[in-house]
Amino acid sequence: PCRSPVAVALDGSALPAGTGLPHGFGLPDEVFAHDGQITRRAIRAMTLAALSPRAGETLWDIGGGSGSVGVEWCLNGGRALSIEPRPDRLANIATNIEAFGLTGRMRLVPGTAPEALADLPLPDAIFVGGGADAALFDALPPARIVANAVTLETETLLAQLHAARGGNLTRISLQETAPLGRMRGWTPLRTVTQWSLP
Ligand code: SAH
Repeated sequence: PCRSPVAVALDGSALPAGTGLPHGFGLPDEVFAHDGQITRRAIRAMTLAALSPRAGETLWDIGGGSGSVGVEWCLNGGRALSIEPRPDRLANIATNIEAFGLTGRMRLVPGTAPEALADLPLPDAIFVGGGADAALFDALPPARIVANAVTLETETLLAQLHAARGGNLTRISLQETAPLGRMRGWTPLRTVTQWSLP
């Protein structure tokens, strides 16, 4: 009886109930231009929760990929710099910046971290989704840090950083249902180890 009859679009216009961009984290993967390398919806939601965006804050999204983490950060009030070396992925990020109306809030930084970080505006938070090695972490300025690992090598590095610097180390294992012949079966996603500081 008290459900609002309309939702409100980003530009303030009215939309039919239940449509438009929802607030919060973890938009479906399909709403982003991507090539398969994308932080999956549920992992992305946990990553954004760990990053804890606040209005006006700046994120460095290192290893932008599709830019999905930077996009969700900006949709929650922040500004983002997406650092990515691959031209094909930079094109996807540009498509997503435009599609989500984030021109002016989210910027592409072509190149490889840590070299590409030299002249950027300082961040409040940093997400490391690619390019994680010891030299990169040594080069980061003071900020909240969230890093995701799917390889043993990066997981080992994150365990060492956790021992040296504290924070939280979390392992995220998820299964989703997918077709299995003519039925459905649980299909595990790649397990992600996440280190967040503080
Ligand atoms: N979070 C992204 C997916 C990241 S995949 C998303 O949701 O779409 C990791 C990305 O890191 C890849 O696109 C890869 O090209 C990039 N990458 C690898 N090494 C890097 C480095 N040293 N600096 C910046 N990006 C790097």
